[in-house]
Amino acid sequence: MGKKEQSTFRILLFYKYVPIENHEEYTQKHLSFCQTLDVKGRILVAHEGINGTISGTYEQTEIYMAAMHMDLRFHDMDFKISPVNEHAFKKIFVRPKEEIVYLGLEEDINPAELTGKHLSPKKYYKALQEEEVIVLDARNDYEHKIGHFQGAICPPVKSFRDLPDWIRENLSDCKDKKILTYCTGGIRCEKLTGFMLREGFQDVSQLEGGIIKYSQDSRVKGELFEGKCYVFDERIVIPANRTGKESIISSCCYCQEKTAHYVDCTEPGCPEQFVCCEECEESLEGVCQDCRPPNYQSNYF
Ligand SMILES: [Zn+2]
Ligand SMILES: [Zn+2]
Repeated sequence: MGKKEQSTFRILLFYKYVPIENHEEYTQKHLSFCQTLDVKGRILVAHEGINGTISGTYEQTEIYMAAMHMDLRFHDMDFKISPVNEHAFKKIFVRPKEEIVYLGLEEDINPAELTGKHLSPKKYYKALQEEEVIVLDARNDYEHKIGHFQGAICPPVKSFRDLPDWIRENLSDCKDKKILTYCTGGIRCEKLTGFMLREGFQDVSQLEGGIIKYSQDSRVKGELFEGKCYVFDERIVIPANRTGKESIISSCCYCQEKTAHYVDCTEPGCPEQFVCCEECEESLEGVCQDCRPPNYQSNYF
C-alpha cells in the first residue's frame, strides 16, 4: 500500500459496460455492501453495466476496489483515483437504471460492439495538434463553460440526451473529418462515438479516461485544456491543466470578473449552479440571478 495516511480521503470514478444479470437485485446487494463499508457517492447499475463515483477513506476505497476486482465482470475495471481532504458526497445512492448514462437513443448502442477508437492521453494530446481535426466536447453547457480543450466545439446543450440531435443538425458536413470526442471520465463518449460511427462518421476517437486521466497523466498534465474541469460531486470544479499554464475562461455572472468559482444557489429548492466570484457570492448570499431580490442594488448595475 502507499504512503498515504488512512485518514486521507479519495474519490473513485469508474464505469464499465458489461452485462449485469438481475441488475435490480445486484443494486440492492451493492447498496448493502457500500453501506457496510461506509463509502458515500452515487452508483448507477443497469443491465448494460455500472457507473459510479464514490468517496471514502484511503482504506475504504482500497477495499472497494479490491472487492470489485474480485468480481469477474469487473476484474479489469479502471478506477480514476483523486485524493481529497474529506468526503465529496453526503450520502450513498445505488440505483437501478435503464442506462448507466442516459442517452435515450431510439436504437440503443452497445459500446462493446460499436464505439470509437480509445486514445490514451498521450495519443490524444498528439491528435489534438493535427490539422483539420474536429474536437467535440461531449458534455453539457454548464460543464464546458468553465473549461474545455482549446479549439473544441462546445455544443450548447443542457443535457446529454440532446447531443445526438445537435450533431445531426450541425456536424453532418463533417463526416469525413477526424473527430476527437472527450468527456469528464470517458463514459459518455462510449455510446456517443458509437452513435457517430453509425451515423456515418468515418474516423471517430475518444479520450480514454476522460479529462480526469488526461489531467493526471504524468507526461501530458492536462496541457491544451483551458479553464477548469466541472465534476459531479461537492467540489463542483477542479483544476485540469497542471502544466503551470492554467487559465480562467469563465467570469462572474454578476460583475464579469474572471473566476472559475461555481456556486450552488442557496435559495431552498433552487437547483441552479452558477459562476460567481467570491465577493459577489458573499454580498448576494449565494443566490442565483433568478433568485436575487428584485430591489438588489449593486455598483455594477
Ligand atoms: Zn462578481
Ligand atoms: Zn436560485
